[in-house]
Amino acid sequence: MRPALLNPLFAPVTSLSGVGPKQDKLLRYLLDRSETPRVVDLLLHLPTNVIDRRARPKIRDAVPGTVVTLEVTIDRHRPPPPRNSRAPYLVYASDDTGDVVFTFFRAKPGYVEKLLPVSETRYVSGTLQIYDGIPQIVHPDRVVDEAGMAKLSGIDPVYPLTEGLALGSLRRAISQAIQKLPALPEWTCPEILRRCHFPPFTDALNRVHVPIELTDILPDQPFWSRLAFDELLAGQLALALVRAQLRRPAGDRHAGDGHLRNKIIDALPYALTPSQRTAAAAIAEDLRQPIRMLRLLQGDVGSGKTVVALLAAAAVAEVGRQAALMAPTEILARQHIKTIAPLAERAGLRVAILTGREKGKERRDILARLFEGKIDLLVGTHALIQDDVTFKALALAVVDEQHRFGVRERLALTSKGEAVDVLVLSATPIPRTLVLTYFGDMDVSELREKPAGRQPIDTRAVPDSRLSEVMDAVGRALTSGKRVYWICPLVEESDMVNLTDAEARFKSLQERFGDKVGLVHGKMKGADKDRVMAEFASGEIGLLVATTVVEVGVDVPAATIMVIENAERFGLAQLHQLRGRIGRGSEASTCLLLYRESLSEMSKARLAVIRETTDGFRIAEEDLRLRGEGDVLGVRQSGLPGYRIARSDVHAQLITQARDEALRVMRENPRLEGERGEALRCLLYLFERDEAIPLIGAG
Ligand code: ADP
Ligand code: MG
Repeated sequence: MRPALLNPLFAPVTSLSGVGPKQDKLLRYLLDRSETPRVVDLLLHLPTNVIDRRARPKIRDAVPGTVVTLEVTIDRHRPPPPRNSRAPYLVYASDDTGDVVFTFFRAKPGYVEKLLPVSETRYVSGTLQIYDGIPQIVHPDRVVDEAGMAKLSGIDPVYPLTEGLALGSLRRAISQAIQKLPALPEWTCPEILRRCHFPPFTDALNRVHVPIELTDILPDQPFWSRLAFDELLAGQLALALVRAQLRRPAGDRHAGDGHLRNKIIDALPYALTPSQRTAAAAIAEDLRQPIRMLRLLQGDVGSGKTVVALLAAAAVAEVGRQAALMAPTEILARQHIKTIAPLAERAGLRVAILTGREKGKERRDILARLFEGKIDLLVGTHALIQDDVTFKALALAVVDEQHRFGVRERLALTSKGEAVDVLVLSATPIPRTLVLTYFGDMDVSELREKPAGRQPIDTRAVPDSRLSEVMDAVGRALTSGKRVYWICPLVEESDMVNLTDAEARFKSLQERFGDKVGLVHGKMKGADKDRVMAEFASGEIGLLVATTVVEVGVDVPAATIMVIENAERFGLAQLHQLRGRIGRGSEASTCLLLYRESLSEMSKARLAVIRETTDGFRIAEEDLRLRGEGDVLGVRQSGLPGYRIARSDVHAQLITQARDEALRVMRENPRLEGERGEALRCLLYLFERDEAIPLIGAG
């Protein structure tokens, strides 16, 4: 149960005055929540900039184009003439050096009269402009009287907004939210507070929202850092609490004698690479230990992770247990089952697939067989974590492309069995700090070499002014029977604008190459997607126009050419993932990165990296290095998914410190008892990392 003292923070934002249904909708969008945001969501929405209103010149000395706060006497009003509501409402004011005009468009009746009463003194702040030779402020940001002025620091926070949401109304909501902050117990130990110069949590939150100095809102300063540390600590503690439940009952082992694994290895049309063998052995060893496995299997696209995962599943099947493999997309799940099913069959391993598409009787049958233990390995999507999916004896959860799933999903899957072992597959090498952030301490296996017989990829960057040459080249390739991917950017699957790009490109390519062209995108029905993919795999269509749905896992070894449009709009990791779809067969491959001139320095650097290397580990390092340099990619990109305050670039140091602190807590107070323990529970609830708390008593 959440401590009562946090209740005010978890009240809906609509309980604040001035926040109605319209604001609710805007705030959901802004704060990325599917339901009405809570007060705490507002509080954790931090400013990214400030407006400095401390300049207090006389009118004569005010610099046009700058933000100033003027002390003026209001002289007279000139409302718009009746019948001309388009004309502005003007207010004339002055000080002893000159005159100024305040301009309001479409002002509500009575509003300006009340705001700026004639012959009174007011402090008016906004951007000064000269219009017809007269100083003017259009829609002043702030108008206060003497008493109001005394309360302002002169520095206003500026928040990320969304269209339709005014800064002023967000500020008003946030300042009410701050009033709701209760006195919170201190959960961070005194040494850290001292060492990092951290203020108390409440002070930090106050100072970031009500800055006194311009630097107060900077992420690397103590106020923001304190909040980031607490958020990271909550995350690390939650992971450590889960990890602490790792011992399994004595005598309970999750790997058998190897008879199924040997059958699979015998059925393989190729030999395992040395690193596949090493990884499989490490996993088998983990499964034999009396401690639960938490292992990350990293390997570039095409390095052969699936078969390693299958061997792990076979190991648990040898002792009569079950395994689950959860993939982030339906395409990927089907791809897995396609690779896995023939091999599994040869070994007598029973596999099935469960996604959103298995419905009705089919689904009921799968669930029944799963519950009876007649399925050894269930492959699927999110559908695997639905409540009515019940295993007879789940012992291993394999999670593919984990960074798309959160901790909650992973827990939801592992809670379907006892002492479930976890194997995470990732195609993008995750930097150490991120592994820590999302998994805590975790073992890592790497598949460093590519399976034998892979051909290098020739990657070239081409300005889109040469589009027609590229089209010609694609035409020649199609004639000679080659298979081509044509990727159009679609950063988010909901991005309808970009979707039309893909459709438009599909049409223009179809006009030219006829029915050799297919289209696949995230908005299509699963069955349609599969059909198009199958046609491409079989060669019925030679040119596949696709959005980034092909980014992960899709395997058509015969495809040897990839054109990526607007390559400058993709991140490095994404480009690498995409390109990994080619170069999988025995033929040489070509990747053309079409870019729109003129490129920013950052885009140039990214394309250069992609051209130079296909080593995913190097690309990941370069990615981090490039992102670290300034904010070229914007604040959002350097943030950590699932974290609102901590950022990968500024707070990397804090991640390790939070990990150490979490481990110390687990050593000294694993049940979170006493005053400090209560405070830590409060922290977990505050940042909604409380999913592990019920586990504490369970021992
Ligand atoms: P990823 O690591 O991207 O998931 P996959 O597991 O999908 O890679 O493997 C890519 C392709 O490589 C598959 O077609 C698979 O059959 C093949 N493969 C896997 N291991 C080897 C190997 N040791 N030798 C040759 N081909 C392999
Ligand atoms: Mg894969």
